[in-house]
Amino acid sequence: MIYSKLADVYDELERTPSRLSKISAVAAILREADNEELPMIILLLQGKVFPSWSEEETGIADRIVIRIVSNATGFREADVMKHFNGTGDLGITVEKLLSGKRQQTLGEKHIDIKKVFENLQKLSAVGGKGSQDVKVSIVKELVMHSSPREAKYIVRTALGQLRVGVAEGVVRDAIAEAFFPEKEGDERKEVIKAIEWAWFMKPDYGDVALTARAGGLDGLRKSGLEIGKPFQVLLAEKAPSLEDALGAYENVQVEWKFDGARIQAHKDGDSIWLFTRRLENVTKQFPDVVRILRKNVTADRCVLEGEVLAVGKNGKPAPFQILSQRIRRKYDISRMVSEIPVKMVWFDIVLLNGKQLFDRPFSERRKLLEGIINTEPGRNVLSEPLMTKDINAARKFYEDALYAGQEGVMVKNLDAIYQPGRRVSGGWLKVKPIMETLDLVITGAQWGTGKRAGWMGSFMLACRDDESGEFLDCGMMGTGVKEKKSAESDVTLKEMTEMLKSDILGEDGNMVRIKPKIVLEIAYEEIQKSPTYSSGYALRFPRLVRVRVDKSPDDADSMERMSVLYAQQKGKSSK
Ligand code: AMP
Repeated sequence: MIYSKLADVYDELERTPSRLSKISAVAAILREADNEELPMIILLLQGKVFPSWSEEETGIADRIVIRIVSNATGFREADVMKHFNGTGDLGITVEKLLSGKRQQTLGEKHIDIKKVFENLQKLSAVGGKGSQDVKVSIVKELVMHSSPREAKYIVRTALGQLRVGVAEGVVRDAIAEAFFPEKEGDERKEVIKAIEWAWFMKPDYGDVALTARAGGLDGLRKSGLEIGKPFQVLLAEKAPSLEDALGAYENVQVEWKFDGARIQAHKDGDSIWLFTRRLENVTKQFPDVVRILRKNVTADRCVLEGEVLAVGKNGKPAPFQILSQRIRRKYDISRMVSEIPVKMVWFDIVLLNGKQLFDRPFSERRKLLEGIINTEPGRNVLSEPLMTKDINAARKFYEDALYAGQEGVMVKNLDAIYQPGRRVSGGWLKVKPIMETLDLVITGAQWGTGKRAGWMGSFMLACRDDESGEFLDCGMMGTGVKEKKSAESDVTLKEMTEMLKSDILGEDGNMVRIKPKIVLEIAYEEIQKSPTYSSGYALRFPRLVRVRVDKSPDDADSMERMSVLYAQQKGKSSK
């Protein structure tokens, strides 16, 4: 299929604010695509060439695109730059400059979707010396063979800034419309449920669309777990208190909520795969966990779930940020394995010897899990269960967990089936302490992309240094600021942007520096030590509670307060 057809859809997506019109525009192109093109188009519609969990990226920055545009149009780089400063969008810049230069005959050429997709994917593999030149030539080839309008979208996709892309929900609904147009009303809801199920089993809408086309509704419903491919795991809901959590289910099992990283482990004989909660493949990073699965898990074919934890000196738990070094590490793995040893704590099983266990109650799954793990204290254990509804016993268990440096507890419904991909009531409830909020100052922001273009999307937070009076960074925050206002108390991205615009001190790429003026009340899960920020601390999962219009930067919390709170974090001092 020619790329201009996809460009037509992008134009339509840009033009219409209506979700229904977006869905039908997307559905039409999905229906027309052949089986090879279908997965490519689904990613391209979302402005991507790799699935969201893939670690691959095009690695194209503004600088390279400026060179490409200069090369392709004959304008000097400085002129391209000047134009870009005026538009703030390299897509528009390339479109304008190309249409000024291009001879009509060249513009008539039509590039193919497959060619665009494959060239953009190739970018990820380019590395080392001279890689910039190679990248330039790969994208330039596309730009030279496309119309100005096509070049606009190609450049934006290469940069990861499509701006008109569609969200996953639109893709899901468009698959329903494309392949089941006759199903309406309640029947449509059933179709969407089946598509979701297939997506939970194989979180890739390209695959799902192919299944919908070839296998129909039945095919979608029968989608199952495939060993070696990640699935969307069950998520926990937050409980307001331990009492509430215990009262929520008839039969409960309380477990510690460990401060590590979720791992789904797939085993097929000697072949092992490990995936994170974000579905990244981390098998290479954890050869020690692979060994545990080979040696201490007796089942031949299974899919297990657990938490991997870093073990510090004297066998005590190490903070999450130590573990994250293991997750991110791509080289020198064996040294990391001995420097940062880990421990596995298993807590669920979803497949055993070819049989899926999603519809079995947790009590049964837990017994099956116990039957296949040879535990080894300090290395490979099962999460210890406490089966009680007695609040005193549960509270003691919870305090033990915090004292041991863990996050809190999980209260699990022993009668619940496993519902992939969902934060469902009826499954798991998490209970953890709420940290005291901090009042922090905004010192910078990042411009949003896609739907958020033109608005600041995330904000640099800073605390006050009592001695120098300066503001020191302690994290970026995007959570809690809304796209749309649905309650009076909501603060929108637009409101934040308007509030901050006049205080911009300077820009660097898509980051702006902002004069410290606005104070926000911020909730977070934990304070961590961090070399990334000038305060030496980083907030984990910061979110906006409210704008403190009543406070000036001088009233913001100090660095000293951060260090007191850091030290007070229950149990963390023992790490
Ligand atoms: P949250 O990320 O706060 O929504 O909490 C859910 C996460 O807690 C899971 O994804 C696991 O990584 C983690 N977790 C720690 N301990 C357990 C446990 N015993 N059972 C289930 N999940 C656990």
